[in-house]
Amino acid sequence: MNVEIDLKNLTLDEMAAFLEQVAIPSSRAASIFREIHLHGCTDIGEMSGLKAAFRATLAQHAIISSLVPSEVEVSEDGTIKFAFTLDDGKLIESVLIPQGERHTLCVSSQVGCAMACRFCLTATMGFVRNLTPAEIVGQVQAVISYMQDTGVQRSTPREFVNNLVFMGMGEPLANYDNLITSLQILMAEEGLEFTERLVTISTCGLAPRIIDLGRDVRVNLAISLHAADDETRSSLMPVNKTYNLDQLMPALRTYPLGKKRVILVEYILLKGINDSPDDAQRLADLLGDLPCRVNLLPYNESPQLDFHCPDEATIETFKKILYGAGVRSFVRDSRGADISAACGQLAVKGNG
Ligand code: SF4
Repeated sequence: MNVEIDLKNLTLDEMAAFLEQVAIPSSRAASIFREIHLHGCTDIGEMSGLKAAFRATLAQHAIISSLVPSEVEVSEDGTIKFAFTLDDGKLIESVLIPQGERHTLCVSSQVGCAMACRFCLTATMGFVRNLTPAEIVGQVQAVISYMQDTGVQRSTPREFVNNLVFMGMGEPLANYDNLITSLQILMAEEGLEFTERLVTISTCGLAPRIIDLGRDVRVNLAISLHAADDETRSSLMPVNKTYNLDQLMPALRTYPLGKKRVILVEYILLKGINDSPDDAQRLADLLGDLPCRVNLLPYNESPQLDFHCPDEATIETFKKILYGAGVRSFVRDSRGADISAACGQLAVKGNG
């Protein structure tokens, strides 16, 4: 067997199966998995928990990939944007958002995106390719490693990145199998041990995949809704022509939520398009008794796209209508806008 396997692509069970294939006891899987995912080992030769003969065998058949940021930009508000050059030269971005002592990492799942949401800069790149599990997991590990190098002290590696949100480049549910594998790796007890509370998958509304996700893992769900009627939503988000609100809402209503958990509803406020009092009332009616919290996101204007942000009074009125209807909502500040790290601004030049 000469095939070179990237160990970072493997779940713990897959690691055990692979070890058996190369005549290494599968009982070593947990220790190897821990070295890679908890301690950040990228060199099989340095695996302290493995006998020299096994290290030599493993090195013949496997590698451990790693991502190193090709560029790091720090925003005035402390948000940090990481650009990574992948093995094939494609570029992706991840964004670390500090909230007091805690940090949330916004992870990319694809190079570009096929979903073509009209307000999104990533969409202007089109779809290039899916990320592998190793490339998804690698973003988290690279950011942890960067934070460790800053000299900040934490008791465990995972405390450098407290929450994961899949809201970077790409539609995570369109890269479903690799998403599930990367979640199994990131949430494994033998690895970084992100619990269900700490991971949020954000989707533009692939209804059948939302149902699959609820069946296959336990994580928080965020829905990019952005309109409460089919006509407006289809004009902003082509996905709505395939899965309209009549298909999307039942998928959200049946999504299994942990105790005291709610679905996060993302709603970008676009001047003159989805920001009227009628739009707010329609949104309240649509959500009804769905356990949810609405994040109202005043649009981050960009010279490439012809959308604008409503004024403060319009935003306040919108929020008040939701509040009056009993829908919890918050207006979210844009983070990292000065380094194009804010929501919907991730687009890397040079991919093609
Ligand atoms: S908003 Fe999300 S799903 Fe829509 S095009 Fe942008 S990255 Fe893709």
